[in-house]
Amino acid sequence: MYGFAGKVLHVDLTRGDFTIEQPDEAFYRQYWGGSAMGMYYLLKHTPPLADPLGLDNTLSFFISAPTGVPISGQSRATATTKSPISGLVGDSQTGGFWPAELKFAGFDGIVITGQSPTPVYLWIKDGQLEIRAADHLWGHDFTTGEVEQKIKDELGEPQAEVIQIGAAGERGVRFACVMNMSNRAFGRTGIGPVMASKNLKAIAVRGTQKPEVFDKAAIAALNRSGTKEIPNNADVKGLQDYGTASVVSFQNAIGSLPTHNYTSGYFEKADEISGEKMADTILQGNDTCFGCTVRCKRVVETEYRKSKVLPTYGGPEYESIATFGSYCGVSDLPAIALANQICAEWGVDTIACGATIAFAMELYENEVLNLDDTGGIALRYGDADAMLQTLNQIVRKEGFGAILAEGSERAAQLIGRDAAEYLITVKGTELPAHMPQVKRSLSVIYAVNPFGADHQSSEHDPMYAPVKDGESNLYLPRLAKLGLTQPQRTKVMNAEKVKFAWETQKNYSFLDTLSLCQFVWGPAWTLYGPDEEVALIKAVTGWDVTLDEIQQIGERRINLMRAFNAREGVGRDKDTLPQKLFKPLKGGRSDGLFISKEELEAALDMYYDLAGWDKTTGNPTPAKLAELGLEWILELDTTPANSTGETSA
Ligand code: SF4
Repeated sequence: MYGFAGKVLHVDLTRGDFTIEQPDEAFYRQYWGGSAMGMYYLLKHTPPLADPLGLDNTLSFFISAPTGVPISGQSRATATTKSPISGLVGDSQTGGFWPAELKFAGFDGIVITGQSPTPVYLWIKDGQLEIRAADHLWGHDFTTGEVEQKIKDELGEPQAEVIQIGAAGERGVRFACVMNMSNRAFGRTGIGPVMASKNLKAIAVRGTQKPEVFDKAAIAALNRSGTKEIPNNADVKGLQDYGTASVVSFQNAIGSLPTHNYTSGYFEKADEISGEKMADTILQGNDTCFGCTVRCKRVVETEYRKSKVLPTYGGPEYESIATFGSYCGVSDLPAIALANQICAEWGVDTIACGATIAFAMELYENEVLNLDDTGGIALRYGDADAMLQTLNQIVRKEGFGAILAEGSERAAQLIGRDAAEYLITVKGTELPAHMPQVKRSLSVIYAVNPFGADHQSSEHDPMYAPVKDGESNLYLPRLAKLGLTQPQRTKVMNAEKVKFAWETQKNYSFLDTLSLCQFVWGPAWTLYGPDEEVALIKAVTGWDVTLDEIQQIGERRINLMRAFNAREGVGRDKDTLPQKLFKPLKGGRSDGLFISKEELEAALDMYYDLAGWDKTTGNPTPAKLAELGLEWILELDTTPANSTGETSA
């Protein structure tokens, strides 16, 4: 096979040993890697109703065929597990250099089962695995930067790439993440506490085995044409110049910048937290992932109240700027950069963390919480010091922070009163910073997505907006290749918008299966579109794929996930939106906008029809699973796990 390493590493931490599997070509052509391959092993190894933090949960990291090949946007990996936040699918991606280095070390993925009796880390070098003691790295509240350096020093491998849980994961913060290079993360769905429950501190990789590809010349040509296109693609150029924060001003202009815990889509101080402001003030430079010429990552250096913000921890992405910024009404960019750094040092998801603080601020503003509850912190919107003080308590699980460290949904249960009315969560997962009241197709995607509300699971509505007579753009001809030929206005929801959601969701799902970056590859605005997706996969593997097969690869992953959730007893009942989204927004271009329950239910009916799922349960039908070669799921042993534990938020 071309592209793939051809090997999957299985590590049993209970026994402290490992095996190497060499799946056949048919297996690779069916599951490809990334999130879909992770789901395959999760379904096979983790029984129904297993405790996410117990012995029976499976944690995997997968890459795919293009990973490590010299072209932009290929060095990404997916972590897959059962989430301790939702009790359902846990899925999260990261970029950087670790994914490519895992390929060079000789593996397409690592499947981790069991629990080590003592803290350990994995060292994988050129096909060899060593399970090493990590007692000296655990329990000391070292920063992730310190741990990464210690591991490289003791291995004598300065070029090793390291992913790790931080001290917040060790302490059991529910939305702890797995950090990568100390400045990127498998951020969402609680991957950190699962890795901590296995007593696994880190995975370091290093290798020299570059992947063989089918058609080197075709890849070089694609690489050249993409790089040449960057100056002509305003969206990608914006990413290069201002990072993901390039969208702050646009989001605010269309009323889609969540402000004051999703009360408004307009933040009057948005200019103070924009990508342009960052470039003018605290930006030190750009960073990149292996082989990528877009270089969208930010590196900042500044200080806030004498606390230094160091380049080691990169810089805040749009989502982190929004959650610690506009969600909380905070407009101090150095304070937001410091919040981002604290999350990276301790290893927590910035979206869940910032959004949970904003939720607590709304409770305080509405007198659901008082100073006795918060331990004396006046959690007012706009107070950067209160935001940082609370954050420091969360990562340590101290004081009121110990309640918020459970995430906003469990915190609402612990607080009681009418706290749940202020929640902004789906399946226990805090909403990201793109508002479905405005980008209407996201309402159905946020509701149905198997691992909770996610902004990276489909294309956003402005890309499907009609253009004026005589104008043209890049997006619409590309979307037409997916059968999307009837553009719709951003704030409209109808059958065509549901089709837009479904078709682009499949394409994004393909990207998360092939481990491709969604800022470089995709169905609309990116450097490369659907034609180039086909060309890349053909050039890497030599397999004669079509766009239909690409869409089916994405569809298979979504069905694997929904089938897992169905086995946990969850389907349409959890496909809903927070109550707050059914009430009108206040201020800005989205003033008065809300989602009606009738509109959502009608959209869900249309979505299940398109997906070929049972409309009553929201679950994949046996016929759909058979069509995708997934009938084996129905034959799995459904005996529940022995370990008890929470299964649902
Ligand atoms: S676009 Fe940004 S996130 Fe994506 S691969 Fe390139 S540098 Fe990494």
